Amino acid sequence: MTDLPSQWTHEPRKILKFHPGSKVADVDPNSTPGYTGDKDGSEEVQAERNERFAGLQEMLYANGKSGDNRSLLLVLQGMDTAGKGGIVKHVVGAGDPMGIRYTGFGVPTEEERAHHYLWRIRKALPPGGHVGVFDRSHYEDVLVVRVHELVPQDVWEPRYDEINAFEKELADSGTTIVKCAMFVSLDEQKRRLAERLDRSDKYWKFNPADIDERLRWPDYQEAYQAVLDRTSTDHAPWFVIPCDKKWYARLAINELLIEALKGMGLSWPPAGFDVEEQKKRLAQA
Ligand code: ADP
Repeated sequence: MTDLPSQWTHEPRKILKFHPGSKVADVDPNSTPGYTGDKDGSEEVQAERNERFAGLQEMLYANGKSGDNRSLLLVLQGMDTAGKGGIVKHVVGAGDPMGIRYTGFGVPTEEERAHHYLWRIRKALPPGGHVGVFDRSHYEDVLVVRVHELVPQDVWEPRYDEINAFEKELADSGTTIVKCAMFVSLDEQKRRLAERLDRSDKYWKFNPADIDERLRWPDYQEAYQAVLDRTSTDHAPWFVIPCDKKWYARLAINELLIEALKGMGLSWPPAGFDVEEQKKRLAQA
């Protein structure tokens, strides 16, 4: 049974799932796959779906409190301005912060560099009952690292298999993994970067290096293609999210999270006490 809003003609988890053979170059970042609505009506849908997500997230948290060690991990990968922060704020942010574990992964610190690249990732994994969000992730170690040749190919090349094994281990230990590759067009990216330069309240989001990265888009495209081709697995599939329309990307990822949580078959944990007895006690207290 699905409770998808009627504007969806196809389930996001099906229509957005990366299929072998698909090309990053063919992604239209301005498209809205499977959704017939437009921006005008999206706020209302988003508000309702935020609530649905929040309800399920609370249920996951409640189960965690009762000893269930299952968790959900959302991996957000995308170029600058793709809207990762907006997903954190407007989608995951609808949940209860108590049960959310957010981690942004920037340039590794000296301490992090002294360890295996998965060291900092393991430390940030969501505990049982939590929704973890990775704003960038271990995939940077086969994206920026590959594009800028920060380590030689014989070092980054084995990482795809290593990441698959790592994610399998995670999935086997009860973590549902939702990986979103967020694509923004070069035109829209330019517009968003220009806005950051036009508004003093957005300067903090601008990094001059973003312009250099933008110029490397063909290399990134190749690196993203390799990620999707080599790390789309049954236990940790990639979803390809067109992000020129922020409202669409948010609705889509919201649905992926709802689906993932529903897939866990959660219910409210039973009371660990005799309810009637406690009611009697309370009445007399
Ligand atoms: P954002 O730009 O997402 O707001 P930050 O400014 O904190 O976040 O840092 C992101 C930068 O860190 C990006 O340029 C990204 O490529 C880089 N980065 C992340 N992980 C790694 C890594 N493992 N090695 C090198 N650079 C990395």
